[in-house]
Amino acid sequence: MTLPPRAVIAAPGWAAAVAGALLCSPDLAAAQVAIETEPAVVTRGQLARIRVVPTVPDLVTRVDGSIAGEPLHLWTPNAVTWSGLAAVPIDAAESVPVTLVLHRSGGADTVETHITTVEPVVAMERLSVAPKMAQPDSAAQARIAREIARARAVSRASHGTPRLWREPLLLPRESRITSTFGTGREFNGKVLSRHLGTDLAGAVGDAVTAPTDGRVALVADFYLAGKVVYLDHGEGLVTAYFHLSQARVSEGQLVRAGEPIGEVGQSGRVTGPHLHWVMRYGNVSVDPMSAVALLGESVATAADSP
Ligand SMILES: [Zn+2]
Repeated sequence: MTLPPRAVIAAPGWAAAVAGALLCSPDLAAAQVAIETEPAVVTRGQLARIRVVPTVPDLVTRVDGSIAGEPLHLWTPNAVTWSGLAAVPIDAAESVPVTLVLHRSGGADTVETHITTVEPVVAMERLSVAPKMAQPDSAAQARIAREIARARAVSRASHGTPRLWREPLLLPRESRITSTFGTGREFNGKVLSRHLGTDLAGAVGDAVTAPTDGRVALVADFYLAGKVVYLDHGEGLVTAYFHLSQARVSEGQLVRAGEPIGEVGQSGRVTGPHLHWVMRYGNVSVDPMSAVALLGESVATAADSP
């Protein structure tokens, strides 16, 4: 399958600076680079693939770096292009910083650049009066803070886990989407909260399966999310399953794509049974359905993946 057209963004300043220096300065030449993304236009809150194409690949032995503060895990099939997953927070600015480190024999060059991103189309609930929200008491707030810290630790650790995920990425349930990612609640023009997962319909006891291979990083009972399972798929990719009636895995266990990991429930703060499916790249929450579009069955496994 032909990949869609991609954005090509030269690191600002480099193209001009290097134009006359190719023959006399291999160091500068090594630092000249283009960035391609898939999809070509990166939407904030969606998973994307980033490809780094050094202009003089012969000089480059390895590429790493970061996007929006999260480490990149770049892999090369051919020592010409370097690619990996990337994500941008839904509330990030239009211009997102990218740092690339181009390693060569005897040193490395750091390129500070950026990609331009677009705002996702999401539903907004606009409120002009203060919403009456049930506020957790201080003990519950402290518990929520501890649970957020545990989830963040899973994300951080995932950057140190070798890649376990593979294509195609599956759905954890083949069912109707009842609430999409990013839906916001806006109060007097300010976004107060966002729905940072995809809700999939289900009855209590219905199976939830692993979308790809991973290690069970956390099984817990959280205040808001109820019974949860977090899977670490490696290289920064984490998925989580909220409001379960029960988990069918234990921490440390390796799971394969399609294996049952739990059952749909209505634990935690919910009004009815459903699966709230979370996906994060590091600590950046992304729309799981954007990952299915990028890595799912409809996309042929490219020879140069990830
Ligand atoms: Zn939800």
